[in-house]
Amino acid sequence: MKKGTWDPAVVFPVCMTCVLVSSVTLEVFYLILTNSGNEQMVLLVLTTYLVFNVIGNMIKFVQTNSTIKGVFLEHGIMGQGWAYCYSCQTHVPPRCHHCFDCNICVLRRDHHCTLLGKCVGHSNYRYFFCTLLHGWLALLFATFLNAEIFMELLHEGFGFHSFFLLLMPWMMLVTGQVTVAAFIFAFVADTCVIGFLFCFAFFTMHSVLLYHGSTTKEWFAGHTKEDYDLGWKRNFKEYLGERWYLVWISPWVYSRIPGNGINFQRRLDTENFFKSADL
Ligand SMILES: [Zn+2]
Ligand SMILES: [Zn+2]
Repeated sequence: MKKGTWDPAVVFPVCMTCVLVSSVTLEVFYLILTNSGNEQMVLLVLTTYLVFNVIGNMIKFVQTNSTIKGVFLEHGIMGQGWAYCYSCQTHVPPRCHHCFDCNICVLRRDHHCTLLGKCVGHSNYRYFFCTLLHGWLALLFATFLNAEIFMELLHEGFGFHSFFLLLMPWMMLVTGQVTVAAFIFAFVADTCVIGFLFCFAFFTMHSVLLYHGSTTKEWFAGHTKEDYDLGWKRNFKEYLGERWYLVWISPWVYSRIPGNGINFQRRLDTENFFKSADL
């Protein structure tokens, strides 16, 4: 995307993400403030903490540069795995791939995150992973709070009206079948359930990738003996930083990433080193 231009393919999903996050947040605060009793304070603190982490990680994700922009690519030590990018007109290191949405090469590129309008790569993977972690926890929590609304609908009898309200809230609103308040609750309840399933599936998938030190592209290309799996602990450090066990607390907890996103140790290198040490 050129500087100063608004690419609808990027701006629209980001705006939709902002609308969904703020509508769920506002609805959950409304439910807690109007319905809960003694546990109101606990629920408010928990919600605030989860929302703080989701939004904080999203902001840090967007702010952190994972591209080759401003990175000194040491042409003198080019070796195995380096490639030439015709779009960027430069040699790029292993695991670096061009993104046609971002229009630049991204270091250890995982994939382009449509909902946040940016690529997941070497420097911002931690924030992407923590957004998923707190996202599915927050949406699971919101789904439990919304369960009361589902129960009320069930008490009324789970007829066609409530079925269509949950399935197609927009259609029911446009055709004048429901009130605006009923539409908002049904829409947010749907968003929570779908969002939870989406975040949980992605979080589970990325937990497996993280454990094996692999990117999505490498994983689907097939695992080989030459991959970058250095053992789960080293992999966690490479992806989440040296203080990987603390990153879930807050996006502002410092955790230095040991690698530079240009040179990567392969599993074969480590195995050969130990073999030669044994001789
Ligand atoms: Zn490129
Ligand atoms: Zn991208």
